[in-house]
Amino acid sequence: MSDIPDRLWIANAWSDAEAGATFATTNPATGEVITQVAEARAVDVHRAVESAREAFSGKAWRQMNPHRRAELLWKLADALEANADELAALETADNGKPYFESRKVDLPSVVENFRYFAGMADKVQGETIPVAGPFFNYTRREPLGVVGVITPWNFPLSLAAWKVAPALACGNCVVLKPAEQTPLTALRLGELAAEVGFPPGVLNVVPGFGPTAGSALVRDPGVDAIAFTGSTEVGRVVMREAADTLKKVSLELGGKSPNVVFADAELKSAVRGASTGIFYGKGEVCAAGSRILVERPVYDDFVEQFAGRARQMTVGDPMDEKTRLGAIVSEEQLERVLGYIEAGKAEGARLVAGGERTTVNGRGNFVTATVFADVEPPMRIAQEEIFGPVAAIIPFDDVDDAVAKANQTIYGLAAGIWTRDVGKAHRVAAEIQAGTVWINTYNQYDSASPFGGYKQSGFGRDLGWESALEKYTQVKSVWVALDR
Ligand code: ADP
Repeated sequence: MSDIPDRLWIANAWSDAEAGATFATTNPATGEVITQVAEARAVDVHRAVESAREAFSGKAWRQMNPHRRAELLWKLADALEANADELAALETADNGKPYFESRKVDLPSVVENFRYFAGMADKVQGETIPVAGPFFNYTRREPLGVVGVITPWNFPLSLAAWKVAPALACGNCVVLKPAEQTPLTALRLGELAAEVGFPPGVLNVVPGFGPTAGSALVRDPGVDAIAFTGSTEVGRVVMREAADTLKKVSLELGGKSPNVVFADAELKSAVRGASTGIFYGKGEVCAAGSRILVERPVYDDFVEQFAGRARQMTVGDPMDEKTRLGAIVSEEQLERVLGYIEAGKAEGARLVAGGERTTVNGRGNFVTATVFADVEPPMRIAQEEIFGPVAAIIPFDDVDDAVAKANQTIYGLAAGIWTRDVGKAHRVAAEIQAGTVWINTYNQYDSASPFGGYKQSGFGRDLGWESALEKYTQVKSVWVALDR
C-alpha cells in the first residue's frame, strides 16, 4: 500500500520532520509495521502552530462567509463518507478494532458529526442585552484562535472529529496531534479537508509522541486552547503545562464506569447490554462499563449468563467482518491488561471467563473476554482503569448500596442502570456522579448530546451545540452610546 499517509500535514502540504525523525506504526493484529511516519518534535509542532496562526490572522478563514464554512464542513463529511471503506480499513489496521466497528459505527458517526457541526457554522450568534442607560449592548461569539487537539488511540478518527468539527465550525484553526499508536486516519482527515477546499493552515496534523509533540503543543504560546482526550494521568500533566500560557483547557479523561443491574431488570437485556458495555472496542473505551454491580437476588444468575456470553465472544482477524473482539492496540497495552488480570487473581477475585493471552493465525495481541466475579470495591481491578476486555462484577444489597458503590471511584464519566422501575431509574440517575447515564441501554452517542466527565474524568463537554459554544468560542461584550 503505497498511498498510506506518512508525513506531517502542515499548511495543506506533506512535509518531513525537520530532524528527519520517523516512527513505526504497527498493525496489532499481525505485528507487522504498516508504515514509518514522520515524527513531529517541538520545532515541527511550532511550524504547524505558525501555519494555523497565519490562517487565523488572515481573512480567508476568520472572515469567510459562514454559509461557505458550513458548506466546507458538509463537503468534508461527504468526502469522509465517500472514502469510508478506506478510512475504516486504515483505522482497523492501525488500532486492531474490528472492521465491523470502524466501518459500521465509527465512520458513520464521524460523518454525522461533521454534518451536525456544519449546521452550526452559520448559527454562532450573540445576544442583545438590555442594560441601564442610553446604551446598546450586544455580545459576539468569537473563535478562540488556534486550538490544539490531542487525541488517544482508541477511537482515533471519531475523537478527532468530536473536537475538530466543532472547533472549525466556530471559526478556529486547528493543530491536531493524534496518538502515536494510531496516526493514520487523522492524516487522511487533513488531506481530505484540503481536497474539499479548506484554506491552508486551517487544519494541520502532526503525529508524534506525547512528551515531545504533545507537550510542545500544550506549551506553545501560539495555541489558545487545548482540547484533550486521554488518560487522567496525562490530563493532569496537560493542565499543569497549560498553566504557563493560561490556555483554556478541556479534558475528557479516564473512567471506571458502573453498570448497575437491579433485580427487577429484564435480565437478558442487562446481560447483553453489560456485555457490550465492556467488550465493545475490546474494552479500550473511556466509558466502558468495567464495573458491573448486580443486586444479590439475581447475582448468581447474572454471573452465569454473563460469563457464558463472554466465553462465546471469540477473538478474530479484525478485518473479518464477523469479528467482534479485535486485537489490543499495542504490546505495551497488552502487558498492562495481563498485569491487571494477574492482579485480579492475586487479590482474590473469582475468574469465571477468559483471562488469557491468545493469538489469531498464530500472531497478534489478543486477550480473551475476561470476567471476574465476587470483586470487592477496593480491589485494583475495581478502581483502576484497565482499558481492556476485563469485567469486574460486584454484588450489592439495595439502592443505597448500589449508589454508594457506583460512586466509590475517582472517576465519573458514565454509568448504566438496568431496571423496570422507572421511578427508581431516574432517582438513581440523579444520584450517580457521572457525565452520562444510560438507562436500560449502554454506549449510546449522538452528535447532539453532550459527553464528558464528572470528578477526575475531566471537564468540558464534547458533542452538543452548547458544549461547542462554551468550548470553542469566547464572548465579547460591545457597548454603543446612543445619545451622542
Ligand atoms: P492512553 O492511555 O489512552 O494512551 P494517553 O493519555 O497516554 O492515553 O495519551 C493520549 C494522548 O495524549 C496521546 O496523543 C499522547 O501522545 C498524548 N500525550 C501523552 N503524554 C503527553 C504529554 N505529556 N503532553 C501532551 N500530550 C501527551
